[in-house]
Amino acid sequence: MRTFAFARADSVARAVESQQGDPASAFVAGGTTLLDLVKLDVMRPSRVIDINALPLNTVERLPDDRLRIGALVTNTDLAYHPDVLADHPLLSQAILAGASSQVRNMATTGGNLMQRTRCPYFRDAAAACNKREPGSGCDALHGVNRMHAVLGGSSECVAVHPSDMCVALAAIGATLTLHGPRGEREIEFADFHRLPGTTPYLEHDLDNELIVAVTLAPPLVPLGAAYVKLRDRAAYEFALASAGAMLSLDEELIGEARLALGGVATKPWRCREAEASLAGKRADTAAFEAAADLALADARPLSHNAFKIPLARQAIVRALRDAARRAREDDA
Ligand SMILES: Cc1cc2nc3c(=O)[nH]c(=O)nc-3n(C[C@H](O)[C@H](O)[C@H](O)COP(=O)(O)OP(=O)(O)OC[C@H]3O[C@@H](n4cnc5c(N)ncnc54)[C@H](O)[C@@H]3O)c2cc1C
Repeated sequence: MRTFAFARADSVARAVESQQGDPASAFVAGGTTLLDLVKLDVMRPSRVIDINALPLNTVERLPDDRLRIGALVTNTDLAYHPDVLADHPLLSQAILAGASSQVRNMATTGGNLMQRTRCPYFRDAAAACNKREPGSGCDALHGVNRMHAVLGGSSECVAVHPSDMCVALAAIGATLTLHGPRGEREIEFADFHRLPGTTPYLEHDLDNELIVAVTLAPPLVPLGAAYVKLRDRAAYEFALASAGAMLSLDEELIGEARLALGGVATKPWRCREAEASLAGKRADTAAFEAAADLALADARPLSHNAFKIPLARQAIVRALRDAARRAREDDA
């Protein structure tokens, strides 16, 4: 067993400070990712900094009406928060499609953004994995890659980003507030997770910083939202393909559309071209299928996961159809 030092932070500044000078240190929030990976010998922090006492566990409505979510708000509290249910049902649906109620009770907003891939080669300390051990190779490329990415992969890494919550955040749009040694800065959610390219071990745009909050973009009005998650079993399982869709409708014409995918890409995957193709169209199956084809135009299957492309297409069409139905109900 490896040992590590342990510290409890009582302020954001002190949490950041205690991380400095120790690149192998890690924050712990709910611990549902970190402790698993420590036990598997995949993450080997020399120092664990408990951030649970920090005052980052509220959802606030800002004067401009946007919602600001503290990094320590649990997935359960976020999914059932009345303002989230009213303004951002997609976020609530996506969170509740993930994990189990026990895990969601512990898991936090910041931890969810930072969760690591479920690639079995990443989680097996004996396998080759460029993400875990730079330069060691990627056993998934020619191994059992049924669960892996068809979008955003590289010759170094094809691991899927596993989060459901992040699919909703990609579709909604959000700004992250980060606190680091040089103070506070903001970054767009879309720029936070990196594509693997030749540096799959660099997963986030985070520079010794603590995630402090996530501020959601304003909702679409009237809004229809739907999260469709397709997986090997109906509960307590990660997505093979998922789609988060939001639509505003003017009569039967689509005003604005938002679409993001999970389970098929190396980062939460926003489909901007597909969104643009929907604007002004009738909200019908033909438009949804055309948007799905655009969203998946760049998809490249590996040896075992060609099935993910038609599966993702179904997820997209169903999510758009359900979102349109809910937009009609919202407008009625
Ligand atoms: C059995 C199981 C099933 C699951 N199923 C799903 C699923 O279906 N869908 C899904 O989306 N997720 C699923 N998850 C993942 C779960 O959502 C994440 O483990 C959880 O969100 C991580 O949050 P946490 O607070 O526990 O993070 P922790 O484990 O505490 O931390 C995770 C990482 O984030 C870092 N970190 C934490 N907070 C911050 C912060 N504020 N700033 C900077 N870094 C930070 C830590 O240093 C660590 O590297 C599952 C997990 C388990 C164990």
